[in-house]
Amino acid sequence: YSGKKGNQLLKEMLNKMTVKDYKAVPVVIKEDTSVYDAIVTMFLEDVGTLYVVKERGTLAGIVSRKDLLKAAIGKQSLQDLPISVIMTRMPNIITCQIDDLLIEAANKLIQYQIDSIPVVKPLDNGEGLEVIGRITKTTIAKAFVELGKEKEV
Ligand code: ADP
Repeated sequence: YSGKKGNQLLKEMLNKMTVKDYKAVPVVIKEDTSVYDAIVTMFLEDVGTLYVVKERGTLAGIVSRKDLLKAAIGKQSLQDLPISVIMTRMPNIITCQIDDLLIEAANKLIQYQIDSIPVVKPLDNGEGLEVIGRITKTTIAKAFVELGKEKEV
């Protein structure tokens, strides 16, 4: 078949891949967690980004490896420094939702030069975004590999 048709097939496949089917489990910490404990959590959970949540599990902030490194080269005691002081906070967080296309989430990773995007669900009362998953560069790499194995559309 022609190249154009192959392209069309690939597009059809990409349009079926949604965040819902590929999202990973989010690793969350509370706002009053110390930077020290956040570093420990990052090692124990083996992730590159932690999501910071309020009491009811709604998104408050996000911390990356470099955010933690930056805090660690400062003079403060990491046990006494709450994560909320150094995190990137709402509303400046790039998020995605369950029905978004995976390729849209991938585009955000590139566009905003970030490693991870929280998958959120807006609460009915309008009081915040519940964190229900994560999309990372690893998620995209896995989906890419899977695409190569796909037998039929
Ligand atoms: P690193 O800083 O370890 O390279 P990132 O590139 O993911 O990791 O993060 C870069 C900066 O952007 C950090 O300050 C981080 O807090 C922030 N950040 C990470 N993910 C997001 C996101 N989804 N929305 C907004 N800011 C983010």
